[in-house]
Amino acid sequence: MNGKPDGRWVTETLYEGDGFTCAFRADKVLYEENTAEQHLVIFENGLFGRMMALDGITQVTERDEFIYHEMMTHVPILAHGKVRRVLIIGGGDGGILREVARHKAVEKITMVEIDPAVTEFAKKHLPQVSAGTFDDPRLDLVFADGAKFVEEAGESYDVVIVDSTDPIGPGEVLFREEFYRAAKARLAAGGVIVTQNGVPFMQGAELASTIGKFRRLFRVATCYMATIPTYVGGPMAMGWGTDDESLASLPVSELQERFEKARISMRYYTPAVHHAAFALPRYVLDLVENA
Ligand code: SAM
Repeated sequence: MNGKPDGRWVTETLYEGDGFTCAFRADKVLYEENTAEQHLVIFENGLFGRMMALDGITQVTERDEFIYHEMMTHVPILAHGKVRRVLIIGGGDGGILREVARHKAVEKITMVEIDPAVTEFAKKHLPQVSAGTFDDPRLDLVFADGAKFVEEAGESYDVVIVDSTDPIGPGEVLFREEFYRAAKARLAAGGVIVTQNGVPFMQGAELASTIGKFRRLFRVATCYMATIPTYVGGPMAMGWGTDDESLASLPVSELQERFEKARISMRYYTPAVHHAAFALPRYVLDLVENA
């Protein structure tokens, strides 16, 4: 099916087993395929614009993707302050790549995506998400399993961004301790790893599991939060693992200085929002502290 008007509804399957779904009307299905890795559909919705779902789980929407991509990228990069090499695991739609590429001081971006179809069809049907950055000369795009990639010896990175699907299907390996351990081995001294860790009000066990593993690997194991409307159920958590205790509590003044030096216009991120994102509500603090 390609481009025909279609009044069908695409159901969010992430919480189906728990008795909750929601649905997005597909006014027009732009592309749909069972790739070698997962079911992929890209469609147009009246409220959120063009959207992509993988295995029935909302991945990216034109309307609110800026929140997730800005917060997953600029928080670790501006907190670190001297990022030159970034590793993106997953991120096939190119939204994280677009935000990383805005940092002119970054010299090398390695992106490891398991499913070439995601990149191919996102470039074609969601071009504004990657905004041409797949042609960035700093990019080394690798189509492989991110868990296998980090196992191999290779260059080190100042920031690792795990922009994965949820721990279902191909994404499941990206939530295992051996992946985090291998990813840590690819972190340069003082580096930081951030992970897509779902909506803790709905998927608290997933966050606790990651933080528990981070706690065995890093001196700092916590998360920060941002609310993406189409990741239903409340604010989502972005896992944070690093051996540098200072990075999660930089003063707003310091973040402001770095933000101004980076000269990047944002739609969600501000230094004050960055700082505040690490202030966790009690129920999330409980998940993190008891992980
Ligand atoms: N922003 C979305 C979210 O928060 O759920 C994630 C977006 S991005 C589309 C997720 C990407 O992870 C997909 O392109 C998927 O193919 C990729 N992925 C899943 N498992 C992977 C693996 N083991 N190695 C590399 N990429 C993987």
